[in-house]
Amino acid sequence: MTDYGHAVLFLRRAGGLLLDALLPPRCLSCGIVVDRQGTICPGCWTELAFLSEPLCACCGYPFAFDLGPETECGACARGHPAFDRARAVLAYDDLSRGLVLGLKYGDRTHLAPALGVMMARAGAELLRQGEVIVPVPLHRRRLWRRRYNQATLLGLAVGRASGLPMAPDALVRRRATQSLGHMSPSARRLALRGAFTVPKTRRQHITGKRLILIDDVLTTGATAEACARTLKRAGAASVELLVFARVVRGSQPWEG
Ligand SMILES: [Zn+2]
Ligand SMILES: [Zn+2]
Repeated sequence: MTDYGHAVLFLRRAGGLLLDALLPPRCLSCGIVVDRQGTICPGCWTELAFLSEPLCACCGYPFAFDLGPETECGACARGHPAFDRARAVLAYDDLSRGLVLGLKYGDRTHLAPALGVMMARAGAELLRQGEVIVPVPLHRRRLWRRRYNQATLLGLAVGRASGLPMAPDALVRRRATQSLGHMSPSARRLALRGAFTVPKTRRQHITGKRLILIDDVLTTGATAEACARTLKRAGAASVELLVFARVVRGSQPWEG
């Protein structure tokens, strides 16, 4: 290497060290200084509402008691959602909401690798059998305004952790939809009818494949169901949903 090359390398290294000194690593949740970049401090970690076994074999709803490995929650026993299985890292509460909103609206894109690694761990069983990762798409107007799709960033991180490829444009959002939270389940389904499509040129990534659909949160479940229906119509062998956080409440979102 030339002297100039060495000098550049030295300056880069020095710059990196300087940056680390100026910007010490901070907890992804509360912002307290921690010893490693991209981590959550022990205090926040103990507050995270991890969802772990026993879970509904289908949707991942947490059970208070272990009733056996193939047990399904009441809602799934009455009728399965459009996706085959779902898993989430955390229950959706103040702490997980803070992380999700930071990634979604706060430009805190550096959260994605850490959250993606946690998702890969929670979804290990799904990912072992999965073949292609598909992120829930944003409408292009929204993508243009927000500049990135948080589900794609999470999908990339899950792909890196699991070794699965991602098809980022296999599913396209044709229409932007308003907030679905206040609607009845049937109104949500109607609002989302025809909202997603698989372009002809992307069919080969979908047909016959076991897909892992990625989103940041599962709230009403209507978006994930609409995506799963569209992917299955395009010939997907299975669609399993992996999210960072999910709403946990008495009744399941896809009931009614
Ligand atoms: Zn913290
Ligand atoms: Zn269930």
